[in-house]
Amino acid sequence: MRDFAYSLARSLDEAVAADGANRMLIAGGTEFLNWFRLGVAAPDHVVDLGGIDGLRAIESDGDGLTIGALATLAEVGENAAVRAHAPVLAHACLAAASPQIRNRATIGGNVLQKTRCAYFRAEEPLPWGCNKRHSGTGCAALEGINDRHAIFGWTEQCVAVHPSDPAVALASLDAEIEIAGPSGRRTVPAAIFHLTQREAADLGLDPAQAETRLQPQDVITGYRIPIRPGARSAYVKVRERASYEYALVSAAAVIELERGVIARAALALGSVAQKPWRLSEAEERVIGQAPTRDALLPVLKQCFGDARPLADNGYKIAMAAGAAARAIAEAAA
Ligand code: SF4
Repeated sequence: MRDFAYSLARSLDEAVAADGANRMLIAGGTEFLNWFRLGVAAPDHVVDLGGIDGLRAIESDGDGLTIGALATLAEVGENAAVRAHAPVLAHACLAAASPQIRNRATIGGNVLQKTRCAYFRAEEPLPWGCNKRHSGTGCAALEGINDRHAIFGWTEQCVAVHPSDPAVALASLDAEIEIAGPSGRRTVPAAIFHLTQREAADLGLDPAQAETRLQPQDVITGYRIPIRPGARSAYVKVRERASYEYALVSAAAVIELERGVIARAALALGSVAQKPWRLSEAEERVIGQAPTRDALLPVLKQCFGDARPLADNGYKIAMAAGAAARAIAEAAA
């Protein structure tokens, strides 16, 4: 057991200002306590966000939805306004984890999960190299068991994927992530909030360690989701069992139809990269297509030219195309 200081923040200002180079925030704690147990995190100061009022509300003002970071996955998934205007997010929240965890885990913390790579999720001392745990030690998954790893955007530094379901839905919805930091408030588009290793390197960050655009003292305060009249959406999660399981591949689709064909599409894949992966080429190519699986599958299969599967995960290409086709068809239905 390791000693650490604990404080309950009563305001956002208190949370942002909480000092200690090695301070970490806790909300629901469902992920953070795993990091403690495994040795992934060893903070000197834990700041509990549970004392901050006003970060749990879910509101709709006609133009958009605002979801507080401390709303639980169950609260978001069961909220009437979310189900009406962003069903893809409701589906994704209710497909995540187990009922017990969904009643505790927050939507703010969920997007900050770390990878489920089995080489990463092991207790210290690690008997293999993992750059994400210890910089410069190598990547055991690169030549090891990598059936659940990335097909897009990876480097030899790390081939992990991001596991959040809501993050994929938020990327497809063009949501903005609201952040409070030492220099004030700002927003970051959900589609670019997470970083691939290459993007992290371009920002001068450690490619295997840096996973988001958050700065050290930043706090996610919520999400802003535009409401698009006429938009329909759905989330498809492919996994090895029906509950309490991470996705092999997932797909979020937000579409608009005109005269029975697709007029606009926003598509994001999960568990294929270290970030939700927008299928930009496919978003263009499905326009004018009927929203049926049979019509879409041949089109979508042509949009994976930049995929780079590893030794064990080539199956993800066909699975992802199928999941995207299903998500569009379910949204249309
Ligand atoms: Fe570690 Fe990333 Fe390699 Fe997994 S894929 S072993 S998390 S460096």
